[in-house]
Amino acid sequence: MKFGGTSVGRPERMHQVKDLITRSTEPTLVVLSALSGTTNALVGIGEALATADKILAKERIDSLYAHYLNFYPELLKSPAARTNAENILKEHFELLNILLKISFNEAIQRDILAQGELLSTKLFHTLLEEFGISSALLPALDFMSIDENSEPELGKISEQLKVKLSQHPDQRLFITQGYICKNHRGEVDNLKRGGSDYTASLVAAAVQASVCEIWTDIDGMHNNDPRVVDRTRPIAELSFDEAAELAYFGAKILHPASIWPAQLHNVPVRLLNTMDPAAAGTLIKAEVAETGVKAIAAKDGITAINIKSSRMLLAYGFLRRIFEVFEAYKTPIDMITTSEVAVSVTIDDLSHLDQIVEELRRFGTVEVDPNQAIICVVGNQVAETKGSISAVMDSLVDIPIRMVSFGGSKHNVSILVDAQYKVQALKSLNEGVFSW
Ligand code: ADP
Ligand code: ASP
Ligand code: MG
Repeated sequence: MKFGGTSVGRPERMHQVKDLITRSTEPTLVVLSALSGTTNALVGIGEALATADKILAKERIDSLYAHYLNFYPELLKSPAARTNAENILKEHFELLNILLKISFNEAIQRDILAQGELLSTKLFHTLLEEFGISSALLPALDFMSIDENSEPELGKISEQLKVKLSQHPDQRLFITQGYICKNHRGEVDNLKRGGSDYTASLVAAAVQASVCEIWTDIDGMHNNDPRVVDRTRPIAELSFDEAAELAYFGAKILHPASIWPAQLHNVPVRLLNTMDPAAAGTLIKAEVAETGVKAIAAKDGITAINIKSSRMLLAYGFLRRIFEVFEAYKTPIDMITTSEVAVSVTIDDLSHLDQIVEELRRFGTVEVDPNQAIICVVGNQVAETKGSISAVMDSLVDIPIRMVSFGGSKHNVSILVDAQYKVQALKSLNEGVFSW
């Protein structure tokens, strides 16, 4: 069971989480995020330190500390539990104040980011103790690891986690931190923003859990982005492929990579609402019956790169040479379209854009279009469902389309538009492809 930031962000919510996990009849591993707002605040502290603004960093540390000093007395009532919480806060905020004094580097930045999940799990563990609920706090840094490409090491995680669990043979309730891990250098690292979902799926796969429950602040995956579209509804069932596509292409409810571990070990994933536990939510599993368009998501911050080369495109090995440039700079490609004389690809990691473009110029003319958005239309057999594609295209008649990718899988159509049209595209598709 994974609980996100809003689910633990207020004392009364943490109490609710306590009630939800103790209802479970199976042995349970609970993954917690940091309290909502904390990771953003920690990012802010790191940014202030990165610009050597120690006064601002100190102000930000103090204001975060003040938040926790207000939080714990509402969470905990007994003097023993409160003393415990005071010590936890002291330990972690003293560490932040020490980090303030030493010279800043990226490893320190990641140490700072880890404090949120360490705090939330320790406070939650104290709450369980106060209520006489037996649980074991398993430090994620003892078993969650990523390799030199920042990829989680599922095999190793599974072995290490099993050792940790076996140290508590009679325990049925375990608490651990989402998001944080150790990297191949043994430093504290993380699974990127929103990474607690990824932790949950990795852990569920590692122990072959019966289910991976992701508890958040909404009643499941909606058929469109509820932050920008007025009328959306929860989807009862999604296949792993559909959910992975939606997560990757911008449905913020799930971390982009969070589906594959559960899918690999066929662990069903449930998206549930901490604020409304009775709501059905979304069940994600291997096979689903329903066909047609199920949901739409959008991912912005996309850059399109077009390589035109009348000379070489038809030559075999040409695409390989282009892809090798991206591989050399560890930059994933999201969308691809080709014509006889040109190929367009999209990326969202711009760290090496200049070098990539420089190298691509060897093959022909290169054009770069920044600020694009991928609109991703997802549904089981969407490609084969009569009328689906025409409904998608009809909905977008007023919007200039830069790329279309269709046929790569049976459950998705991706459309690239200038980011200024993202909201308009999501809204028009909402009216055009769903029956309300
Ligand atoms: P948590 O802190 O629990 O991880 P997040 O804020 O990361 O929660 O994710 C939940 C939020 O995702 C929702 O409140 C909602 O605004 C947003 N969201 C974006 N797209 C979707 C979607 N398609 N379905 C449901 N929620 C979505
Ligand atoms: N606390 C981390 C974040 O805000 C991880 C998570 O919430 O999933 O990104
Ligand atoms: Mg999240």
